[in-house]
Amino acid sequence: MGNTNIVNVINLHKVEKKLIDINNKRGELPAKIASINEQIESLSKQKEESETRLAEIEKRKVLLNGTLSDIEKKVNSLNDQMYKVKSNKEYEALLSEIDHLNNENNNHFEELGTFEDEIGSINSNLTENAEKLESENNKLSANQEKLNEANLLIESEEKELKKEKKSLTGLLSNDRSIESAYNDKKDEYEGLAFASINRNCCNNCYSSLPPQLIIDIESQKKLVSCPSCSIFLYIEDENLEEEE
Ligand SMILES: [Zn+2]
Repeated sequence: MGNTNIVNVINLHKVEKKLIDINNKRGELPAKIASINEQIESLSKQKEESETRLAEIEKRKVLLNGTLSDIEKKVNSLNDQMYKVKSNKEYEALLSEIDHLNNENNNHFEELGTFEDEIGSINSNLTENAEKLESENNKLSANQEKLNEANLLIESEEKELKKEKKSLTGLLSNDRSIESAYNDKKDEYEGLAFASINRNCCNNCYSSLPPQLIIDIESQKKLVSCPSCSIFLYIEDENLEEEE
């Protein structure tokens, strides 16, 4: 009869290993979905920025067109005054003001002209963006559907295993030294504290194990580490039964 806490920690390892195996059935899907979501987020942000810029341009266009028509009115009225001037000096002054206003209008026209190019390029970006968004959204639903299918197959087993894990973790907390040894080893070996043995060899590093060690592993009275790689060792149930 083994030590209960050792039996519990080995069972906890088996449950956690099954949980890892089950989660692997989801494959690359969760990572893929996360990366598609990132892409969608970035495309949506680009779209928003383009739309904000278009609105800014529209506002500026309204302002410039208003100014243009104001200036035109001023120029017309100054032109009318030209007929009534009484001195060269007055004439020069009017002429210079008209010149100044015409220059101002030219600048506004130029600015309005640059907007046409910018609007064109923003609209073509928006079209491209909409196509990409549609394709990413299609990819997302296809992958989400695959993930849902995978989840459907594993969810109930996973739920049971998580329940088992919780109860074994609770039992293990009775023995803090085994609990912390287990958790430390798990951190060291990427989630798996134990390796099974196969033909008296460690399944983690494949070195062969001395007979006394096999007896210690079989008796389940203490935690046994592999002398070569230091992972904890246990015997799979089917092998344990064979040897009994
Ligand atoms: Zn080893």
